[in-house]
Amino acid sequence: MAIRSINPATGELLKTFEPLSDEEIEWRLERASKAFVSYRATGFGQRATWMRAAADLLESDRGDIARTMTTEMGKTLAAAEAEAAKCARGMRFYAEHAEEFLADEPLSDPGAVGARRALARYQPLGVILAVMPWNFPLWQVVRFAAPALMAGNVGLLKHASNVPQTALYLEDLFVRAGFPEGCFQALLIGSAQVEAVLRDPRVVAATLTGSEPAGRSVAAVAGEEIKKTVLELGGSDAFVVMPSADLERAAQVAVTARVQNNGQSCIAAKRFIVHDAVYDRFARLFVERMQALRVGDPAEEATDVGPLATEQGRADVEALVEDAVVHGATLLCGGARVDGPGWYYQPTVLADVTQDMAVYREEVFGPVAALYRVDGIDEAIEVANATSFGLGSNAWTEDAAEQERFATELEAGAVFINGMTTSYPELPFGGIKRSGYGRELSAHGIREFCNLKTVWIG
Ligand code: NAP
Repeated sequence: MAIRSINPATGELLKTFEPLSDEEIEWRLERASKAFVSYRATGFGQRATWMRAAADLLESDRGDIARTMTTEMGKTLAAAEAEAAKCARGMRFYAEHAEEFLADEPLSDPGAVGARRALARYQPLGVILAVMPWNFPLWQVVRFAAPALMAGNVGLLKHASNVPQTALYLEDLFVRAGFPEGCFQALLIGSAQVEAVLRDPRVVAATLTGSEPAGRSVAAVAGEEIKKTVLELGGSDAFVVMPSADLERAAQVAVTARVQNNGQSCIAAKRFIVHDAVYDRFARLFVERMQALRVGDPAEEATDVGPLATEQGRADVEALVEDAVVHGATLLCGGARVDGPGWYYQPTVLADVTQDMAVYREEVFGPVAALYRVDGIDEAIEVANATSFGLGSNAWTEDAAEQERFATELEAGAVFINGMTTSYPELPFGGIKRSGYGRELSAHGIREFCNLKTVWIG
């Protein structure tokens, strides 16, 4: 894929970049490797000062970087500004807590292992490759970079080929914040160039956020090289609504949960599983709200849903909806592209979805919801778990026993009851099954790329 910014709202080509040559990649790898030697010896206090400076700069750049994101991948300006603010908060969170998260863990009874002193110590690993997607072009990177840099690692970013300007902005941000040269570099390379970088001995680990095929490919190479990976892949989150739920609120949140980021979020609710007793009412409230959404220019304040990020992305969504309709699904609203320039697709609700439809199994990366009718909690859990993904999940119920069952029995990396699945710096984030492995954020995230060293002193 060529490295270029194209405005999804118009289809206009904004800027093209040449991928780095082998020599240019070599130069950056060497710079990263050298940077690690001295950077790992800096203290948490110094790193925190740089990280807070990055947060301050990001906040003051918020308007400009938000416009860049909107023109590169089509999210609404309001969402882009909120993303920048979230990144600044994530940076401050790790500036504040990294030292405590990575403090030595002494054994309270070292005599039990025949030592005078025994402890576990977290140390940085080295140069980490981050392969990142375009959908949250700042946040996906920052939730890797903030903990990695605070832990004393250095980062190489291979960003998605359609958000090169956001990638370059991030490199520049960390330089301006004062991080030493080479601590965080963007590699403008295509996906075919990733393997060689990952196999390079100076790169010790990788994290990938993206699709299942990309994750499989990076994990396979890393497996051969015996290098640690964290994978954050796709999702097809369930959103279960039970009779005791506050239906108005559930319907309102359901819409946001489905169409956030123009429907292109890994943790968007995608399958709406509704108890028979409230199905008709919920469906009406949900469809009314989906139909009322304003689709249009993401730079306009009044817009709720902008275009899909790529032409191919819209074609994929169209194909999934068409396949469902051909196989007997009912369209409750939407179901077509919006005429005119730009890659817009109408907010869509499908009912009567069955197992022979691709939409039942695959992730729909666009503003398309599928409704399922179930006759009780057992069937709700069964349908929710009948997917190869296991990222987030939602359940709406006021019944304490049901809440407990959903919390325990939904097969996912997160369960949100009476609320929307969201990532918070304070909470671990990640999936199971084909949604990936490893965790980002919280204390768990920063420890993923550390050597947990056992120290035994006799
Ligand atoms: P994608 O095609 O997998 O791209 C993601 C990144 O991987 C890009 O930088 C891409 O580079 C690179 N890539 C693609 N194929 C590769 C390969 N064979 N080897 C090495 N790198 C490769 O994903 P996308 O379509 O942009 O993003 C949407 C997917 O990401 C959805 O499935 C979504 O659910 C998932 N996602 C997951 C999370 C999470 O936290 N779990 C968060 C956000 C998104 P190029 O751009 O150069 O192809």
